[in-house]
Amino acid sequence: MTIADTPVDADPHAETIVAIATPPGVGAVGIVRLSGPRAFTIGRALFRPVSRGAGASASAKANRHASGAGNVADGSDDGSDDVTPPSHLLTYGRIVDPASGELVDEALVAFMRAPHTYTREDVVEINAHGGPTLLRRIVGLALAAGARAAQPGEFTLRAFLHGRVDLAQAEAVMALINAESDAAQRLALRQLQGELSARVQAARDAALGALTRIEASIDFPDEEVPPPDPAELAALVAQARGEVARLLAGADRGRILREGLRVAIVGRPNVGKSSLLNALLGVERAIVTPVAGTTRDTVEESAQIGGVALHLVDTAGLTPTTDPVERLGVERSRAAAREADLLIFALDGSIPLTELDYQATGELRDLTPDPFPQVWEGAKGRFVALSDESPATPPSAPTARETPLPTGVGRGRGLGPLILALNKADLPAVVSVAEAQALWPRAQVVATSTLTREGMAALETAIGELALGGVAQPSDALVSAARQRDALRRADEQLAAAETTLADHLPLDFVSVDLRAALEALGEITGETATGDLLDRIFAEFCIGK
Ligand code: GDP
Repeated sequence: MTIADTPVDADPHAETIVAIATPPGVGAVGIVRLSGPRAFTIGRALFRPVSRGAGASASAKANRHASGAGNVADGSDDGSDDVTPPSHLLTYGRIVDPASGELVDEALVAFMRAPHTYTREDVVEINAHGGPTLLRRIVGLALAAGARAAQPGEFTLRAFLHGRVDLAQAEAVMALINAESDAAQRLALRQLQGELSARVQAARDAALGALTRIEASIDFPDEEVPPPDPAELAALVAQARGEVARLLAGADRGRILREGLRVAIVGRPNVGKSSLLNALLGVERAIVTPVAGTTRDTVEESAQIGGVALHLVDTAGLTPTTDPVERLGVERSRAAAREADLLIFALDGSIPLTELDYQATGELRDLTPDPFPQVWEGAKGRFVALSDESPATPPSAPTARETPLPTGVGRGRGLGPLILALNKADLPAVVSVAEAQALWPRAQVVATSTLTREGMAALETAIGELALGGVAQPSDALVSAARQRDALRRADEQLAAAETTLADHLPLDFVSVDLRAALEALGEITGETATGDLLDRIFAEFCIGK
């Protein structure tokens, strides 16, 4: 049985849940959180406020008065266990085992009266010392007193079921917790504040407006409901579709803001790929975190540029080889290049291009499955502005002219945009920009030196611009989760179908079917039409205690 098996309309108040809300491991403070109708009763059983003289006594009295007779058992004012401490304030006291009276810990406890709580239920948060054994003991005492262990995300699920947040906002909570960069954190906060929900709601309202007009005429054909004006219907559907299109247009950028930008540094050995990686990491060394899963052949590290997380992969090299072990390394490099949002192709500008440079280029070009990769809006201007006319291609790079250039951002669409780093710029230049561009005619060329850091700022700027289109309109980037994007795509298809059906003057019943499907898809984002399965899948990704 999973949490969402409980139908949305079943009484979610039924049980009181408990979990450790702080991360596993040792910490200065650890929090045990209770939520549900018996949270106060269980909290009172475990907690003995320590009276601080007349003041504390007076406030306990006041709260007893304020919190309603039903929740407060009779008792004295001297800090005994049956007085609920004042709501939404931290109260100092002792955690005890109610069965034996044994002292377990000293703690600060917040009793928070519904509905102004995270779950909209009564919530108790015990701020104890942050030892895992101790916290588990406190959870055990709460379980013995009648609570149930919370499932992952169950506190947030309750907030959703009680209507405090919609599904997009609930997901934003998780995105906020998991944010790896300033940009990801800001995006999640905007989602949490309901910006995405409001935009989805605007699309729903327009589609619903069209549906209501159609259904009124279908349901009451003989009455005085005039048939809906086709132009008005078309305008409403177009309005809904426009809103969906704007959200979809920002989805790539939203994903990058949330997950970061995958940058693969490619090129033949010895051009300075590892040095470039280190130089880029040096930007904000302090927040660099090593990424798990590092292989022998590709090194991956993360940094932030312009507040966006950057996952840098230094590929082993892209040179053809017959050696099976080396071949494996090349395969990994190819995979890294294929998965990257952006490529930095490094050349050594201080010596003539070598056969290996051309071979690495050829290897990379072979990865482009789509001869005309989708041009991403943000990158379009830059690439289109540059000439398509490639200078004479050296004979040793036979594929250079034949394969069109990759320009699309986004995984699974061929290669991402490419920046040429003409490295070792501190040494006398031997390779000209034109020569470099013969390899990748429309790529931006940046002369870099990892020794003097010349050109590193320009490289960072180029990365930032290609990642975020240089036209950073953060307001468009609201959709970041694959699930939300899928639902929007389905809504878009259905709205497109409704437009066609309207244009073809087919019966309005057909339009109504399309509109219903579109509303269903949009409702999945905010949760109105989310099934138990969907809720399960979403909340299963949450951590326990959230
Ligand atoms: P990789 O094999 O492509 O990863 O290349 P490395 O980063 O290991 O660098 C190869 C060699 O080039 C090393 O000796 C580096 O010190 C040197 N190198 C890297 N970048 C520069 C640079 O900007 N200027 C100069 N003069 N040497 C560099």
